[in-house]
Amino acid sequence: MDLMEYQAKELFARHGVPVTLGRVIEDPADAAAAAVDLGGRVVVKAQVKTGGRGKAGGVKLARSPEEATEKAGEILGMDIKGHTVHRVLLAPAADIAAEYYFSFLIDRANREYLCIASTEGGVEIEEVAHTKPEAIAKVPIDPAVGVDAAKAEEIVAAAGFPAEATSIVQRLWDVFVAEDATLVEVNPLVKLGDGSLEALDGKVTLDDSATYRHPDHAAFEDKTSADPLEAAAHEKGLNYVKLDGSVGIIGNGAGLVMSTLDVVAYAGSQYGVKPANFLDIGGGASAEVMANGLGIILSDAQVRSVFVNVFGGITACDAVSNGIVQALAVLGDRADKPLVVRLDGNNVDEGRRILAQANHPLVTVVDTMDGAAAKAAELAAQN
Ligand code: GDP
Ligand code: MN
Repeated sequence: MDLMEYQAKELFARHGVPVTLGRVIEDPADAAAAAVDLGGRVVVKAQVKTGGRGKAGGVKLARSPEEATEKAGEILGMDIKGHTVHRVLLAPAADIAAEYYFSFLIDRANREYLCIASTEGGVEIEEVAHTKPEAIAKVPIDPAVGVDAAKAEEIVAAAGFPAEATSIVQRLWDVFVAEDATLVEVNPLVKLGDGSLEALDGKVTLDDSATYRHPDHAAFEDKTSADPLEAAAHEKGLNYVKLDGSVGIIGNGAGLVMSTLDVVAYAGSQYGVKPANFLDIGGGASAEVMANGLGIILSDAQVRSVFVNVFGGITACDAVSNGIVQALAVLGDRADKPLVVRLDGNNVDEGRRILAQANHPLVTVVDTMDGAAAKAAELAAQN
């Protein structure tokens, strides 16, 4: 889960990283009073899960409460790279002397953590990497050791940060480890007019696999911007990602589903037809799970056909076929789009026999994956 800036700063504050929390509002009518509380001169910042807000006009300075109302009105409702702004953060305008870049992330290729730090902050780090690569320090971190005082000093020296940054580096490492983050980025980390340091922006990605250890993180979930289908699927424990095509996809096993997306995209390219979703129903494809999955996919208004691609393993094809037949019975009239089913693997003959015998008017069985993808794409193009 990605956090918004104000949420990232809340986490920073819990670990002693210097931040100014400010106030989050959703209605421009609340801006003036908030600005007065914050001392009059404020920055109004769009809260969306994407970077480059400043460039897109989502970060604006307001010199008075009236201007805060005006800027909040401009920014709320704005679209930044496909994200609608529902909330803005108002924070006292900082007096910036220097902007630095700082991050901790996972370096999977080297099986380490990595710290990237630069005194060329504020702008996107990719840009610095192009124009001034020598200004970027990359310090590997041994996962078994982490960031102790010596490592923090090494990072600060490599980056060219003022010595005061050492304790902030250690506190940001606390955030990274204690909160089970896979990314902690501060851009800019600023030096203020009085020489003190502060995290002026924050980007944190939390590891969803560690959610069970952090009941408090549930409060960060953004129900307003989550896709309603994804939210419904999540509630049913389904591994579902909404995409923007018209062929609904169900498969067992993430790898099989990914290749199913590829073959459907390939087969559909001649009609401009694309996959509508990723849905992995896992190993135990019971009737209930199948019904839940089909239910989610069929309630996607963009879906025109559904491709069920199952490789029978421990849960054999006959059990999956029974699951499909029962799911269609459970769904009744809600099942209103053609289904193309491809089965292979354990007990495939019995699985196909069950589907043939059920003879459901919406179901077409195709023996090969490519053939089934072509059929599903064709049906989506026709409907
Ligand atoms: P981003 O564009 O999404 O990364 O948003 P940031 O929060 O990083 O803001 C972009 C830029 O706006 C920063 O790099 C600063 O230059 C500027 N900025 C943000 N907050 C303040 C502030 O309080 N005072 C001043 N003077 N500039 C700010
Ligand atoms: Mn930033």
